[in-house]
Amino acid sequence: MKNASELKDIVIVGGGSAGWMSAMILADTLAAKGVTITVLESPTVGVIGVGEGSTPALKRFFDSLNIAESEWMPQCNATFKSGITFDGWSTKPGFGKYFHQFSTMVDKLTQPVFISNVHARLQGVDVDARPDDYFLSRLLVENKLAPLAGESFPFTATYGYHFDAALLGKFLHKKALERGVRYRVCHVTRATQDADGNIAAVHTSDGEAVAADLFIDCSGFSALLIDKTLKTPFVSYSDVLFNDAAVALPTPLEGPIAPQTVSTAMKYGWAWQIPLTNRYGNGYVYSTRYCDADQAETELRHKLGQLDGSTPARHLKMKIGRVAQHWNKNCVAVGLSQGFLEPLEATALYLTQMTVAIFALFLDKGDFSEPARHAYNQEVNGFFDGHRDYIVAHFKTSSRADTAYWRDNASELDGMSDSLKGIFGTWLQAKDLSAELVRQDLERYYPVGSWYALMAGMGVFPAARMASAQEASGHAEQRAQMREFLRRCALNFRDHKLVLQEMVGR
Ligand SMILES: Cc1cc2nc3c(=O)[nH]c(=O)nc-3n(C[C@H](O)[C@H](O)[C@H](O)COP(=O)(O)OP(=O)(O)OC[C@H]3O[C@@H](n4cnc5c(N)ncnc54)[C@H](O)[C@@H]3O)c2cc1C
Repeated sequence: MKNASELKDIVIVGGGSAGWMSAMILADTLAAKGVTITVLESPTVGVIGVGEGSTPALKRFFDSLNIAESEWMPQCNATFKSGITFDGWSTKPGFGKYFHQFSTMVDKLTQPVFISNVHARLQGVDVDARPDDYFLSRLLVENKLAPLAGESFPFTATYGYHFDAALLGKFLHKKALERGVRYRVCHVTRATQDADGNIAAVHTSDGEAVAADLFIDCSGFSALLIDKTLKTPFVSYSDVLFNDAAVALPTPLEGPIAPQTVSTAMKYGWAWQIPLTNRYGNGYVYSTRYCDADQAETELRHKLGQLDGSTPARHLKMKIGRVAQHWNKNCVAVGLSQGFLEPLEATALYLTQMTVAIFALFLDKGDFSEPARHAYNQEVNGFFDGHRDYIVAHFKTSSRADTAYWRDNASELDGMSDSLKGIFGTWLQAKDLSAELVRQDLERYYPVGSWYALMAGMGVFPAARMASAQEASGHAEQRAQMREFLRRCALNFRDHKLVLQEMVGR
């Protein structure tokens, strides 16, 4: 098939979040074009069932499909997310914790002050250059406020969500069926190819062959079509991202709910804590090169005070990297089948969404030629590699050295991309990081405020000399004004838990 106009049938193998997100976006793109979309799901292989945090892009997904927060959030025990606190990643005095903010319109006023102070600090002047004091999102978290601005406040905030992954999958499943997507429970055992190598049909354990023009591989880490059938090469990121396993454990949630994920550095990795409306989701992402599953579970249980073992933990393996071609022949891989980055910035659903949304643009253009596939793959690879570099930067800037895990993370610079080396070089020479991000066209992956928050939050600064009395007093005054301004802005936001409770039954 060289042309999208020949497209009549799409089969999606897999009914996890990736399968249903793909179904929703494609159904929306192809509405009224008479294309049949069918999701096949195994009765015996479950969904991965973790993945409880998002970036602000998930709001765009729901908005584009006209699904209101008041509809989906209560059904998925969802909460709002204004950013991530990184705890214990840096050992530098004064930098034990920092907040990676989701942006607000107020940042237009406060971010330049932050960046100017960062540059003063890079020049060695002892001024406050921690991101936490400069962003409204941080204040929303501190005061446990929902990031929904009151009507009279002219500045809006971007935000992501936390949600129960299994419930989100069920919700998307239900919505996709309402929009005409078909669903069949069957276990795919193999696929057959035509003379050109395209997938002709997938075969089920009931002996049935299901043919289609286009196949979307959403079969999770098993990657039934993109790997097992088409043997697409896999580009591992394990040289720079060591973590390949996780252990997850829920804990009870009581009291007010801060709209944030907390990521705490551990001995051999890091632990997430995510608030839902009814519980915390917790997990420890670690490297099996340095620690085994029992050690990881014990360390997590100690952290959570869950030593009696009454709540069982779930252990998961992760394959870190991406396929070389996400669109190969007549197959597009989406979700865990196409690749995965450890969930430090909760980017998996975002990459899933982008993979399908970019494919939808190619569908619109109607070009299914080899050059079109190549251009698509370059684009999606750019997203994976760009996000990888931002995650790698956390490990390279961490000053922890308490275990071989952290020491090796900091020392193995060989795998670092030229792009990331360019960013680090710019920072260490105290040059303009914004200009470097623009030069490398990297802002499409992470905005400049995120890079400054990461580098400054970790305390990547030269030793500071004392500020002069004049600098110090000017700075203290500016800081007090900033704090007061943000405090007043925060008055326009309401209690997070209350807002969530009001959504139920609306
Ligand atoms: C530890 C961890 C933490 C994570 N945290 C986050 C996070 O915070 N934020 C985020 O965005 N993402 C996160 N993720 C990723 C997220 O869980 C996944 O991206 C998301 O759930 C999509 O998974 P999937 O649909 O690709 O695969 P799965 O959920 O594994 O679904 C695979 C589907 O394929 C079907 N299938 C498999 N084999 C067959 C077969 N032979 N025949 C028919 N059907 C078959 C299964 O039945 C299932 O329906 C995390 C992942 C891990 C491992």
